[in-house]
Amino acid sequence: MILSQKIEELGRILPPQKDALSKLGIQTIEDLLYHFPVRYGDTATMQSISSLRKGDSAVIFGKVTKLKTSKGFRTKIAMADGIIEDTSGSIKAVWFNQPYLAKMTPEGSFIRAEGKVAERKGELYLSNPKIEQITKLPVGVGESLFAGEGDNAPNILYPVYPESKGISSNWIYHSIQKVFKGGALDVFLDPIPEHILTKYNLPSWKTAMIWMHAPKNLKDAESARKRFAFEEIFFIQLERIRERRAWQKNPSFIIDKAREDIETFTKRFPFPLTLAQSHAIDAIVGDFKSGRAMSRLLEGDVGSGKTAVAAATVHAVVTTPPKNREFGHLQSAYMCPTEILATQHFESFIQYFKHLPINIGLITGSGCRKFPSKVNPTGWTDISRAQLLKWTASGDISILIGTHALIQKSVQFKNLGYAIIDEQHRFGTAQRKKLVRKDGTSPHLLSMTATPIPRTLALTMYGDLDLTVIDQMPIGRKPIITDILSGANRERAYERIRMELKNGRQAYIICPRIDEPDPDQEMALNAKSVKEEAKRLKKSIFPEYEIGVLHGKMKDDDKDEAMLDFKAGKTNILVATSVVEVGVNVPNATVILIEGAERFGLSQLHQLRGRVIRSENQAYCFALSESTGDKTIARLRALKTAKNGFELAELDLASRGVGDLWGRKQWGVSDVAMEALRNIKMVEAARTEATILLEKDETLSQHPTLKIEIERRRKDAVHFE
Ligand code: ADP
Ligand code: MG
Repeated sequence: MILSQKIEELGRILPPQKDALSKLGIQTIEDLLYHFPVRYGDTATMQSISSLRKGDSAVIFGKVTKLKTSKGFRTKIAMADGIIEDTSGSIKAVWFNQPYLAKMTPEGSFIRAEGKVAERKGELYLSNPKIEQITKLPVGVGESLFAGEGDNAPNILYPVYPESKGISSNWIYHSIQKVFKGGALDVFLDPIPEHILTKYNLPSWKTAMIWMHAPKNLKDAESARKRFAFEEIFFIQLERIRERRAWQKNPSFIIDKAREDIETFTKRFPFPLTLAQSHAIDAIVGDFKSGRAMSRLLEGDVGSGKTAVAAATVHAVVTTPPKNREFGHLQSAYMCPTEILATQHFESFIQYFKHLPINIGLITGSGCRKFPSKVNPTGWTDISRAQLLKWTASGDISILIGTHALIQKSVQFKNLGYAIIDEQHRFGTAQRKKLVRKDGTSPHLLSMTATPIPRTLALTMYGDLDLTVIDQMPIGRKPIITDILSGANRERAYERIRMELKNGRQAYIICPRIDEPDPDQEMALNAKSVKEEAKRLKKSIFPEYEIGVLHGKMKDDDKDEAMLDFKAGKTNILVATSVVEVGVNVPNATVILIEGAERFGLSQLHQLRGRVIRSENQAYCFALSESTGDKTIARLRALKTAKNGFELAELDLASRGVGDLWGRKQWGVSDVAMEALRNIKMVEAARTEATILLEKDETLSQHPTLKIEIERRRKDAVHFE
C-alpha cells in the first residue's frame, strides 16, 4: 500500500460516503493520514453510566434503544429521546430540535455519546448529547459486551476526527487503522533531514503518524502535532526561499527616475502624500534602480492610500524607455481580484494619468476598454479583446489593468517592467508567478495588501518578499465610531443610518448570507440573507430610499451595475455580502452596519469597516451580533479598543474560534500549521533551517528525499489553484 493510492482501494465506498470524503478533502491514503484528529476522547476519563452525576460533562459508550420522536407539550419543539445502556446501568438521552437523530440511528446500535448530565424530577438524563455510531466498544468498556472478540487493540486514546454527514469519526479511525496494518507507513521515507529532527526533538514521520492517530498519551500526540506543523512550515519556507533566490538571480529593468520627476507627478494629486506613502514610493523607486528584480509587499491598512503609491511608481516605469532604446516605454500590469476593483482602478488611473499621452487598458472577463478613446480623448471606449491584446503586445498600451484575465497566456507584453498585484492574498502564488512569467528580464513585482497579518504568518507566507508598511492614515481622517450591538438594538443603528442618509450620505448593510437559509441547517437559521433583508428594509424600514443589492453569485454585469449605481448615488443603501470587503471605494458612504458580526473574523470586520473610512466625514460602524454570549461580545469589543488591524489580526490568531473563517481557507495552510503560527519560535526555527539548508546545498542534491517531496508538493499546489 502506498500513500498516493486512492481511498477507494481501502474497501467499498458508497456514493454518499464519497461525497462526504470529498467534502473533507480526502481522496488518497495520504489525505486520510493527514486528516488529523481534532482532539482525543480519553477512554480513561470515559465514564460508566452508573457513575454519572448531575452537571458532569460525560463521554459514555453503550447501546442505544427505544429511540422515538415527539413534540414538546407546550413548546411544540421537535424532540427525540432514547435510552443508552452499558453494563453498569442505563440513562435517558434527550435531544431538542434534532429529531433526525432518532431516525438516523438504528435501534440497538453501539454509540459513543458525549454531553451534559442534567436532572429533571429526580431523574438523570443526557441533554442533547453528540452521538456517534461505532462498530464496537473500545477496550475497557463493558467487558462482558466486548469479550470474545479477540481484539488485542492497545490501550490508546480515542481520536476524534472532523466528520462530514456520511463519514463518522469512527469510520475514519478504522480506515486509518487499516492503512497502518497495510504497511503504508513503512514505505514512506521521511523527507525532513534527520539532524533537524534531532535538533528540535521531533519524532520521525512514521512515529509521528502513529502518535497522531493512536497515541498512548497526550504528550506523544502533542509531539506529533508539532512535527507536522514544523513539516508544513518548513516546506513552505523552503519553497519561498528558493523562489526568492531564483528571483534575485534574474536581471531586471533599471528604472532610474529623478526625484523631481516623481514629485512633478504626485504634486498633481488632489491631496498631499502622507509621509508613509512617500517612504513607500522611495523604497520602491530604490529597488527599481538596483538592477535586481524587486519583489516587495506593500502592507497598509484599508484607506491608507496604496493606490496612489502604485500610480506614482507606475508613472516612473511607463515614462522610462526600455534599455538601449530611445523609443517606446516600459509597461505596467495591475492585477485585481475582482472586476469591480479592476474597473475602479481603471477609473482612478485615468484621473491620475489623463494629462499625459499614456494609453491605459482594462481587461476583465466581461470585456475590454481603452483610454483614451479616439473620438473622445477625455474618456474611455470599449474595444475588442483581440485589439487590446494586439496593442498590449505592440507596447502601445502602457498600463494594463485587469482581473485574472490578465494572466492568460494570450496576454503578451512587449516590455513588461512592473507588475502590481492588489489585495494579493486573494491570489495564489501560482497566479503571482504567472503574472511575472517572463523569459529573460524579470519585471519588478509589487504585491499590495490591506490585510494586516501576524508576524509569524508574514514570515511564513511572504518569506520571499521585502516588506514596506504604510503605517499612517491620510491626515484628517477621523477614527470610525464603532458600536457593538445585539440584534435587539438594531433600531439604534437604523437611527444613525437615517441621519446619515438625510445628510446625503450613503450606507452599507452587510449580511452573512445571499439566499434564504437552508431550513435544515440550524446554524444558518438566524443569519440574515442579502436578498430577504433588502426586501425587508425597503418595505418596512427605509421605504423612502433606494436600496441596491450586491453579492458574489450575481452576474458580473449586474455586480458592476449595482456598484456603479451606488457610486453614483443612485442607490442610497447597498445591501451586500462581504464581497464589498475588498478595496471598494465610495467616499460618500459613511456608515456600515454588519449583521451577524459574530460570524466574521476580526480582521475581516476591520476590512469591512474600512469601506467607510474614505473621506474626512465622520464614519460609523455597527457590528450586530445575534449571540450575546460574553465571549462573543468581548471578542467583538476588540474592534473598539484595538489600535490597528495588526492587533486585530493577532487577536484572530489567538482565538481559534474563527480559525476556519480567517485561517485555512484564506492561506491554504492546514489547521495544524495554523496552530503553529502562534509559536514564533517554531516559525523562526523552520525558517532558519530552510535558509541554512539552501545556502549549503542550493539544489538539494544531498537531500534527494526532500527534493522529491518539494517537487511533489509543488505539483499538488499548482494542481489545486
Ligand atoms: P487602500 O490603501 O485601501 O487601497 P486607496 O488607495 O483606495 O486605499 O485610498 C483611499 C482613499 O484615500 C482614496 O479616495 C484616495 O484618493 C484617498 N487618499 C489616498 N492618499 C491620500 C492622502 N495622502 N491624503 C488624502 N487622501 C488620500
Ligand atoms: Mg486598495
